[in-house]
Amino acid sequence: MRESLVEQRRELHMHPELSFEEWETGKKIREQLLTLGYELQEGIPAPNCVAILRGGKPGKTVALRADIDALPITEENDVPYRSQNEGVMHACGHDAHTAMLLGAAKLLADHRDCLDGNVKLIFQQAEELIPGGAKPLTEAGVMENPHVDAIFTQHVQAFVPVGSFSVSIGPAMAATDTFKIHIRGKGGHGGHYHAATDIIVVAAQVISALQIISSRKLSPFRPIALSICNVHGGTTDNVLPDEVVLGGTLRTYDTKTRTHVLDEMHSILGHITAMHGASYTLDLHCGYPAVINDADAVAFGKRIAEKLIGEGHFNDHEDPSMGGEDFAYYLAYAPGAMFNIGIGNAARGITASIHNSRFDIDEDCLPLGTAFLASLAYGYLKENA
Ligand SMILES: [Zn+2]
Ligand SMILES: [Zn+2]
Repeated sequence: MRESLVEQRRELHMHPELSFEEWETGKKIREQLLTLGYELQEGIPAPNCVAILRGGKPGKTVALRADIDALPITEENDVPYRSQNEGVMHACGHDAHTAMLLGAAKLLADHRDCLDGNVKLIFQQAEELIPGGAKPLTEAGVMENPHVDAIFTQHVQAFVPVGSFSVSIGPAMAATDTFKIHIRGKGGHGGHYHAATDIIVVAAQVISALQIISSRKLSPFRPIALSICNVHGGTTDNVLPDEVVLGGTLRTYDTKTRTHVLDEMHSILGHITAMHGASYTLDLHCGYPAVINDADAVAFGKRIAEKLIGEGHFNDHEDPSMGGEDFAYYLAYAPGAMFNIGIGNAARGITASIHNSRFDIDEDCLPLGTAFLASLAYGYLKENA
């Protein structure tokens, strides 16, 4: 299937669509699944596409998920299959995810009679943009009718060499919250700072002090990422502003740690602003929950992968990532795992990370990823028959 998988992936790569705008992509997927004889789940809003294959024998239901959206990035690769949609690029490999799941759809449909249960294929929009596509899909009942017993997905990663996989047991991707801090005080003349509340100085002290949370306030066994990613304050060189706004992201793995960090942020902001006679507000916007891979699902995935590629190419001790993924929403309904599939190949210059304008994949990953997905579904149903 290599040739058709490459063709499929390149076709998707040339016509990327942004999150919540994947109308043509969704249409193409739906047409192919109907041709393959899949039944489409009712009540699922387009352009999402959820397809069910009922196997020859009754049994459990296993779900496989691919995300289908692209990013607002201008592709810088000079390749024949370069993005034809200016300013939009499949820089996170969701074209490959979609092509591999469509390939698995064909393999599974061809072997429908030997499946001990049902397979549900989830082609999901808008992974890249909070609130994401997964949450509304779960609310629309994607994990029911028939009820999903386990769910798997894979994500391309350049730091994993092509021909291999990696995965973290337990914590895999962090919960992704964002926040805005408004610091307010009395503005004034830059030369008469003593008659004002210099909130630029206050903001600087806050930014420095926030670093104490991860280094001094939390156990070293509780990873977080707390980053101030933008600072806005002031308009000209001789006026002290009356407001500075700090924006940033907070990444955690459990609600206890998130609450602890928020308490510490309020403590720091409260004390520092009080010391200067300033005031503050802190607004947190919750993003995706953390992806926690099920240990049994990871062990199962390793067994399946090693049947395909032998031992020594499946690293089940990958470091957790402080990135986020809305695959987390499905895991609230059924155990499962998210695997990294290797697409990197330094010898061929394929090293750019996801979300980079030069991101590309070693297409040798496509047959392997297709076989892996189909084998996960086939194997899960067989083992749980
Ligand atoms: Zn991405
Ligand atoms: Zn992605």
